[in-house]
Amino acid sequence: MISELFISNQVENCKIICSIEVVDTDWSWFYFGHKGCKHRAIKLQSTHDDIQLWRCEKCQVKINEVIPVFKLHLIVRDDTETCKLLLLNTVAKTIVGHEAVDLWDDSYDVIEDPELLPEQVRALEGKSFCFGIFVKSDNVRDGAATFRVLECLLVKCSCWKETARMIQKNAKHLLQNAKRKMLISQT
Ligand SMILES: [Zn+2]
Repeated sequence: MISELFISNQVENCKIICSIEVVDTDWSWFYFGHKGCKHRAIKLQSTHDDIQLWRCEKCQVKINEVIPVFKLHLIVRDDTETCKLLLLNTVAKTIVGHEAVDLWDDSYDVIEDPELLPEQVRALEGKSFCFGIFVKSDNVRDGAATFRVLECLLVKCSCWKETARMIQKNAKHLLQNAKRKMLISQT
């Protein structure tokens, strides 16, 4: 459950079932990345010859070929809470069902209006998914409210509540086991 993400006090992976309320358009839905490593590329000042150069900060090289890479910020909700999720690259591709490059408008300009979402991205709103979430140490330490998604599965709308109940049951069981172990170790 989402509420449990916020009270988590250790770095861990967990699963939540939730529905996507809205795609957060405070951020653009992709960034330009190095074709080889998908890491963010920085646009360099154009030179006199017409080739636009970029720099990959990870590989520390100048490149002239970049591709759009998904970076979706989603606001999601379950019965307990709302939170923000970050989906990168192939994880986002799993739920969108398209490569970022197929939805891109072929413009290398800075995105001025992130509100302009491709319809395939907008179509995520209202859909339910099971997300595997990584709770990072800054989520734990600073209470940062954005969680990074490691994997996702589409949950059929009709059965997602049932699945949520099952996971909840499972979580309770695990918690009881953990408590029992703690009691044993204390005695
Ligand atoms: Zn690179």
